[in-house]
Amino acid sequence: MKRTSRGIRTANRYRVLRQVIADQPVSRPRLAVATGLSTATVATLVGELVALGLLVEAGYEDSGGGRPRGLLAVNPSDAALVGVDVSETYVHAEVFDLAWTVLSRAERQLCLGDAAPDRVVNAIAATVGAAVGHRAATGRQVLGVGVGIPGVLDRRTGVSLYAPAWGWQDVPLLRLLAERLPHRLFLDNPLHACLAAELWSGAARGREDAVVVYLGTGVGAGFALGGEPHRGRSNSAGEWGHTTLVMDGRLCHCGRHGCVETYVGAPGIVQNLRELNPLSPLLHPDDPAATIASLAAACEAGDPVAEKAVRDTAAYLGAAVADLVNLLDPELVVLSGWVARRLGAPLLRQVRQAVDRHALRRPGDGTQIVLSPVRANPVSLGAASSALEGVLAPGGQGGTSHAATAGGSLRPGPFPPGPASRTLGPARHGTTREAGSRG
Ligand SMILES: [Zn+2]
Repeated sequence: MKRTSRGIRTANRYRVLRQVIADQPVSRPRLAVATGLSTATVATLVGELVALGLLVEAGYEDSGGGRPRGLLAVNPSDAALVGVDVSETYVHAEVFDLAWTVLSRAERQLCLGDAAPDRVVNAIAATVGAAVGHRAATGRQVLGVGVGIPGVLDRRTGVSLYAPAWGWQDVPLLRLLAERLPHRLFLDNPLHACLAAELWSGAARGREDAVVVYLGTGVGAGFALGGEPHRGRSNSAGEWGHTTLVMDGRLCHCGRHGCVETYVGAPGIVQNLRELNPLSPLLHPDDPAATIASLAAACEAGDPVAEKAVRDTAAYLGAAVADLVNLLDPELVVLSGWVARRLGAPLLRQVRQAVDRHALRRPGDGTQIVLSPVRANPVSLGAASSALEGVLAPGGQGGTSHAATAGGSLRPGPFPPGPASRTLGPARHGTTREAGSRG
C-alpha cells in the first residue's frame, strides 16, 4: 500500500478526530498519548480541525498548579452528517451530529420488482430530504451525505457497475443523485460502511489491523490494514462470503458451490436448522429474519436443537474466520450485522472455540474476537463516517464528487486538492441486509 505523506496526514486527522469524539473534552497532551502522535503533530492537526469548524475549544483542565491545559470537543452546534442505508427493499437515512448522536431519521420502502434507477434515486433523495428537513436537524450545515449502496460500485466515478438484485448495470448513480440533492455525496459499499462504523465508533477504533465480519442475509468481510481500509484493485476485496468452505457443498446464488455464505448467512443458518429438524417449529417459511429470532430465543431457553444449530453454524463460521486469522494476523475480528447481533453471546463463545481449533496458534492466540458494540444501524452510521472521511480528505472522493458539491460543503482544507483518490470499498453481493438489520 503506497502511503504518501498527505495520506498519512489525512489518516492522522481521522485518528485525532476519532479520539476527540470518544474522549471529549480532552486536552492536547492526552490526545498525543492516546493516538501515539507527537504533541507537535497533534497541535497542528487540532489547529486544522478547529479551522475546519469540526472541533472547538471547550474550557480548561486543572493541571495541578501548572499552566492550565485547553480542552477540545467536537463542534456541538452547527454541523451534521447524513448516512443512508440502501437495501434492495428499503432506504433508511439518519442525520448525525459530529459526536454520532442520531438527530433524525427517515425511511421508505422499495419495491424489489420495480427498481428502475430513477425510482431508487428518487426514493433516496426523498428519504434524505425528509431526514434533513426534520425539525431536530433544521439549521444544521450538512457537511456530506454518505450512501451505502448494494452491488459493485466504482467509487472513483460514482457508477454502480453491477447490482444484481435490481438488474442494474453501469448506472451513473452519483450523477443522478447530484441532480436531486444539494449536498456533497459519498457513495460506498455497505460492507465498507460497516468497517468504517467500527473504525470510527466501534470496536476497531484505534486498531491498526482489524477484520469486520458482516453476517446478514449475505456475508462479507471488511479489512483495515495498517489502520486503513483495504479495498483491493477493483473495489472488490472482502468477498470472503464467496470463498469455498465445503467442496461441492450447497449451491450459492453466485453460481458456485460450498461458499461460506451458504452456511453462515441467514438462509444458510435456516438450512442448518432444517437439516437437524425439517419440521422444527422455529422455522418460519420465507422469513429468515423471524427464523433467526426464534432460533436465538430457543437457544437462550436451552432448546437442544436450537443449541445444536447455533453450534453447527459457529463451527462453519469459526473455520472460515480462522482462514482470515491465518491470512491477515489481525489484532481483532469484529462480528457485525443483524445475524451476529441476534445470535449474540452463544455464537461468539462457540466461534472463539472453533477458531482456536482451526487457526494456527501463532496468529490465533493474539487475535481478539468480539461482537460489534455498535447499536445503531451500522450501514448508515458507517456511510456517514465515510462521508466525514471524504470531507476531511484533500480532494474528496475523486473528481466526480466535486460535481456533486452544490452546497453545504465544508470550508476547504489546508492542503491543495489531491488527485482522484484510489478506488475504494470491497464489493458485495446483492442481499446482505434486510429488514432485520435495522436499528
Ligand atoms: Zn457464493
